[in-house]
Amino acid sequence: MNWITNYVRPTINSIFSRREVPENLWSKCDECGTMLFHRELTDNLNVCTNCNHHMAITPRARFKALFDAGIFTEVKVPEPLADPLSFRDQKKYTDRIKDARKVTSEKEAMLVVEGEICRTPIVAAGQDFSFMAGSMGMYVGNAIIAAAERAVTLKRPLVLFSAAGGARMQEGILSLMQMPRTTVALQMLKEAGLPYIVVLTHPTTGGVTASYAMLGDVQIAEPGALICFAGPRVIEQTIREKLPEGFQRAEYLLDHGMLDRVTPRGKLRDELVTIIRMLTHQPPAVSGDLPAPAYEEAAESAVAGLEANSDAAPQDSKAPKKK
Ligand SMILES: [Zn+2]
Repeated sequence: MNWITNYVRPTINSIFSRREVPENLWSKCDECGTMLFHRELTDNLNVCTNCNHHMAITPRARFKALFDAGIFTEVKVPEPLADPLSFRDQKKYTDRIKDARKVTSEKEAMLVVEGEICRTPIVAAGQDFSFMAGSMGMYVGNAIIAAAERAVTLKRPLVLFSAAGGARMQEGILSLMQMPRTTVALQMLKEAGLPYIVVLTHPTTGGVTASYAMLGDVQIAEPGALICFAGPRVIEQTIREKLPEGFQRAEYLLDHGMLDRVTPRGKLRDELVTIIRMLTHQPPAVSGDLPAPAYEEAAESAVAGLEANSDAAPQDSKAPKKK
């Protein structure tokens, strides 16, 4: 070994590595390369403050920002069979699941919750792209069915945020069966006259686009989201032609009648509330700080509380809202 490899190179490397910023404090925008301070980025819902690029956001972070005071309750999803095909590629399927759970601290690729946005009660489901590319397996199917059933029970609209690389190939045909299963589940909402709103986020592809993500009464997408069945690269290779710019992106699909709205993440909450309240014949939401309940309303609930107390069930009256 010579002087260059033993001394000069390590010295240069150490100078450069010292300039590198800790990864957990800063993130780089994939689009414009700007370094963004993590707190600033979180406050802006993972949207680049420089170029407005919408980066991935986990369902949990999204729901925290979406629901009033960040409060929501998780809806239980029935557990499917684990690894029914004993699938193995370079890694066992069960190991992949274990790794994804460790990395994301989430159970599976979909989170179902209930709560209120601007005092408008809803059920929401969010797909997590960071969990095995948000792939649709049996759990995701179960989650959508649980969400639809919960929405019907509570007579609430369902809002679904999609993000997926498609079906989960490790579950083979069982993952494809989730397409008709979820379609039937969503039909329950239609029969109950409840709105189903889909927010397509980057990327929504494959079997997810071919089923529940395209069945909304209102189809909203986030700016720049790729929404397709087969991706642009596959199409380009198949037809051997150059595709138009922005092909299969949210704005392109809006222009071509596939979507109703393209809404930036920051404005999504207000827009969802407006749409839901219109579809469910409720008066517009009060914007800004909500006033305290009116005197009569407060007095009424106090009287109701007293009555419940005298009805020999004092422990119930303490938490009347819990279900
Ligand atoms: Zn950017």
